[in-house]
Amino acid sequence: MYNCIVLIISKILSGFIRIFKKNSGNIIGKIAMKLSPNIIKYFKIDCPVIAVTATNGKTTTNNVISYIIKNNGKKVVSNTEGNNMETGIVTKLIKSSSLSGKINADFVTLEVDESYVPKVFKKIRLDTLIVLDFFRDQLDRNGEEESLILKINEFLKDYNGNLILNNDDPNVARLGKANPENKNVYYFSVDKYEFATKKEKEVGEGKFCPFCKTRLEYEYYQYSHIGKFKCPKCDYGENDIFLKVKNVNVKEGTFEVENNQETINYKTLANSIYTIYNYAATLAFSKLYNLNAQNALATFKLDNGRCEEIDVAGCKTLVNLAKNPTGANVSLRILNEDSDEKDLLFVLNDNIADGFDVSWIWDINFNIQNVNRIITSGKRAYDIAIRIKASGFDKEKIEAYLDLNEAVKALYKTEGKKYVIANYTALQPTRKAIFDYKKE
Ligand SMILES: [Zn+2]
Repeated sequence: MYNCIVLIISKILSGFIRIFKKNSGNIIGKIAMKLSPNIIKYFKIDCPVIAVTATNGKTTTNNVISYIIKNNGKKVVSNTEGNNMETGIVTKLIKSSSLSGKINADFVTLEVDESYVPKVFKKIRLDTLIVLDFFRDQLDRNGEEESLILKINEFLKDYNGNLILNNDDPNVARLGKANPENKNVYYFSVDKYEFATKKEKEVGEGKFCPFCKTRLEYEYYQYSHIGKFKCPKCDYGENDIFLKVKNVNVKEGTFEVENNQETINYKTLANSIYTIYNYAATLAFSKLYNLNAQNALATFKLDNGRCEEIDVAGCKTLVNLAKNPTGANVSLRILNEDSDEKDLLFVLNDNIADGFDVSWIWDINFNIQNVNRIITSGKRAYDIAIRIKASGFDKEKIEAYLDLNEAVKALYKTEGKKYVIANYTALQPTRKAIFDYKKE
């Protein structure tokens, strides 16, 4: 009864907030959890619950999954806005439930912050957990990456639902090997693509076998520590692959998947190997639930600063979020795979949500080609400018602007393609500045 009252109060509040603001974020969930800390248990969910967790790519993957479900004519409840902590998930469920707490949908799909997976799914049933990757990320907030992996592994000890894992990330595939009693583990993998390297190009994390501590051997690296690896001592890395993506062409956004001796061709709007890994995860999910993903992947448009393409008066601009070295390296990788002349804008803030410690920028691989100018902006415009200068990039071609609008103006001073990298709180202001400039 009490939870029902809390739910009604929260729904009324949510209605008020909607009148004044478009997105209530976590506020409703925060208030509801203050009134009833375990309110999340009150929701009645009969349909499959899917969760996506990772350091990078949670939002895109969850949004694609939600899009595939809708494209198959089914009803989905999903936190596509990216509010991925318990309060954000509670907010979403409050908005989507009936007064009795019933969720009326065919699927609930949730993007969940890595550290919240055990907290949330101790309280609500989980059918399928998708894990994409683990990289070093916001150390002052998340703690060491290893302790995060161990936290999720601890949760998996009592979990027997589906587990969809990236077989090409040694930090992720280990969760399958560490939990052999779970018979519902499904691995996805992407075959070597044209820009894969023999040696690791960017700083990675998975250097040693988590089981016998031997150095892992790589046949190739796709990006960062993602690639085809194997432990020479205990054979860690050898798994039956449930879904394999082949013949990737990142320029065209095309690839193939074999399914029951039949080859399915995919044509997508993806423009990076990183996005194709996210798509591979969504295809493993689709295969498991017998959903068709071909139409959905052909029309899904990357937006909201996730490898987003913006046309500014005929000038192609690619905007990508980077909260950590891998995010930035992925953006620079896409830039290097493009042989055209271009300029780069890097916007760096150090607000609470970014983490105050910006030392991660020293782990970015700034070995870049065919870049004419680099503009920097954000609260830490000068830190990132110094970092780029230290990498050997001609300092005469670096311009720093604390004012974001000035920086965007400077970016479009010359012709040619533009690449934009922005960290967490810098992303939306940067997109706004670009769209404002475009309007002018
Ligand atoms: Zn080993």
